[in-house]
Amino acid sequence: MLNVDEARNHVLESVGKLPLIEVPLLESLGLVLGEDIIAKDDIPPFDNSAMDGYALRQRDIEGTSEGKPVSLRVTGDLPAGKAPTDSVAEGEAVRIMTGAPVPAGADTVVPVELTRAAAGSVLILEELAAGANIREAGEDVKVGQIVIAARTLVGPSEMGMMASLGCAKVKCFRRAVIGIISTGDELLPVGEELRPGKIRDSNSYTVYGMVKEAGAEPLRLGIVADQAGALEKTILDSVDLVDVFVTSGGVSVGDYDMVKDVLGKIGEMNFWKVAMRPGKPQAFGQIRGKPLFGLPGNPVSVMVSFEQFVRPALLKMMGRAQIYRPQVKAILDSPIGRKRGRAEFIRVIAEWRDGGYRVRVTGPQGSGILNSMVKGNALAILPEDTGRLEAGEEVTIEFLR
Ligand code: AMP
Ligand code: MG
Repeated sequence: MLNVDEARNHVLESVGKLPLIEVPLLESLGLVLGEDIIAKDDIPPFDNSAMDGYALRQRDIEGTSEGKPVSLRVTGDLPAGKAPTDSVAEGEAVRIMTGAPVPAGADTVVPVELTRAAAGSVLILEELAAGANIREAGEDVKVGQIVIAARTLVGPSEMGMMASLGCAKVKCFRRAVIGIISTGDELLPVGEELRPGKIRDSNSYTVYGMVKEAGAEPLRLGIVADQAGALEKTILDSVDLVDVFVTSGGVSVGDYDMVKDVLGKIGEMNFWKVAMRPGKPQAFGQIRGKPLFGLPGNPVSVMVSFEQFVRPALLKMMGRAQIYRPQVKAILDSPIGRKRGRAEFIRVIAEWRDGGYRVRVTGPQGSGILNSMVKGNALAILPEDTGRLEAGEEVTIEFLR
């Protein structure tokens, strides 16, 4: 039996990065850049006004004050978007709006609040230093600079920056396509009424959500009966459409647990037991070069195993530099009794209180209690060799939302 780190390392070693694709800028949101973004323009591209006011020569307003204002002749109007044609000479000012280019000759902008308009002229009521209220060309970004490095996750700020720089198309790692299969003769689709012995398939929905939240593309391949032939067919029919398979159920040692056998028959089975709770039985392998995660059937085990193994693997494939959730320390509000030997993932409610995170257990922790995931916002991670924990002790948690 592998421990969680060994299993995860094994998984991560066996997945590679997906190819780069070129996408329109809007579609890059949530993808990882596959190229450095190098500025082909200065941002801003020209010196421009930071205020609505008057562009003028600073020497003309030396010593000016409310009691002894200087009067300048207003020679024009510069709204944003207009290119100046005339320069500003001694004794002159141009009315300028925020974002408009500063005309030649002017070196200072006096905000309108510090002026009084008169017919054809303006009174300047305060002296300002040369350069005041002018945003210099290139003060944000200089041409030739690497503004965003390859491997950066594209968020709203990166999109805005790339728009400023005229990057209409961007090279990114593509999204992984994940084939999702639920196994089990007991499973009904969500729209059906319950019948004796049957339950509705919930795993394909939790997995769908986790795939989407990881930034990958889910492809639902349906419910498959507990027959090796049926599973084999579903996998082989779609192996060219997906980058990764995620199945749930059918990985323990019952008579109907056939995922391992199918994996061994049409692919390669790498491991199937991890020292963790929930989620001890689970299979990992490859079919025609496509990784297959055979997650356990129990609804909480599916989610915890996805978090620990599938999510980091998908993020690695999609080029992410940071593939793990950040971990923080938290103090237990109530004790947790447990046996050593397997790492345990306890669903907790974490909140900030008295200068630190405090956690309490969601309630019953059975691997079928999906409500523990609904109520919890974090997993407390108890290492293999940790025994019972008392209230007030510190634990490591990972926020799930
Ligand atoms: P298995 O690993 O196939 O023996 O399944 C373990 C438990 O998880 C059983 O109680 C199953 O009924 C349940 N289970 C398996 N697959 C699903 C599913 N897709 N949705 C909800 N529960 C499931
Ligand atoms: Mg089953």
